[in-house]
Amino acid sequence: MSAKIIDGKEISAFIKQQAAGRAAACAAAERAPCLAVILVGDDPASQVYVRNKHRACEACGITSLQFALPADTAQAELLALIDRLNNDAGVDGILCQLPLPSHLNEDAVTDAIAPEKDVDGFHPVNVGKMLAGKDCFLPCTPAGVIEMLKYEKIPIAGKHAVVIGRSNIVGKPAAALLLRENATVTVCHSRTADLKETVKTADIVVAAVGRPCFVTADMLKPGCAVIDVGINRLADGALAGDVDFAAAKEIAGAITPVPGGVGPMTIAMLMMNTVKSAEARLGMRKG
Ligand code: NDP
Repeated sequence: MSAKIIDGKEISAFIKQQAAGRAAACAAAERAPCLAVILVGDDPASQVYVRNKHRACEACGITSLQFALPADTAQAELLALIDRLNNDAGVDGILCQLPLPSHLNEDAVTDAIAPEKDVDGFHPVNVGKMLAGKDCFLPCTPAGVIEMLKYEKIPIAGKHAVVIGRSNIVGKPAAALLLRENATVTVCHSRTADLKETVKTADIVVAAVGRPCFVTADMLKPGCAVIDVGINRLADGALAGDVDFAAAKEIAGAITPVPGGVGPMTIAMLMMNTVKSAEARLGMRKG
């Protein structure tokens, strides 16, 4: 039997609808939530991401401030802008689109954003709080992965989740969030021995490798849930995930497609984080 296809567009639309409702309540009480997005340089992919974030803000009733800085912007200049936004009571979320031009220090920029406005969830304070299970901004893509599993009522607690990839933005936080949901978690990476055998024991597979067709159908336990975070551009220009979707969907119980899977969730979670930040600032926190 073919797997249930998990529709990231439907789930992200649901999250954005909730965010829009809560944003409207903020606007009615005092002001709309506000997200400041900083883009340094003219990387075409980054420009697309920033444009998509702006459109999502518009759709959700979130004010979007955009700061397009030239590629030769000095570190001190960028940090001064972040400082100004940190101290602006009308700004709820600040994000600096990565990657930055090579002369800029990404860690210093991430660290400069006030944790209570770090809606990307990348600041070390938020990373630490996430690991400690405390209330904080969760990183958008891994939070989107959990949201998809919950929306589809796929059990997490007590299940074996295997995360392939251990980056700071996807693999590690995805593992931490699955653990927080009481899964038994294994993290695989490029040095893992017996990766195939390990994945075969998974009830939930999260693939965040960045290689097309890395996860093949023969690696999957029949009926497992497969969340494909990978976004790979193929030679013909098409997008593909990390999973051999066509074959895997015949084995898995549920699976996300690429595109239309995890991708749309990331921006939806960013919108929700911005709304939550505004609610906290305006004293109307719902959690
Ligand atoms: P990174 O390149 O930072 O990390 C890739 C991970 O995969 C590393 O931990 C690496 O292991 C592991 N890996 C690489 N090769 C192998 C191998 N042969 N066997 C086992 N593990 C391997 O990528 P990201 O985490 O940033 O992104 C992963 C994918 O997710 C990319 O396709 C990216 O485009 C996509 N992505 C999608 C997002 C979305 O919104 N849907 C958001 C962010 C990313 P090691 O650590 O040992 O090197």
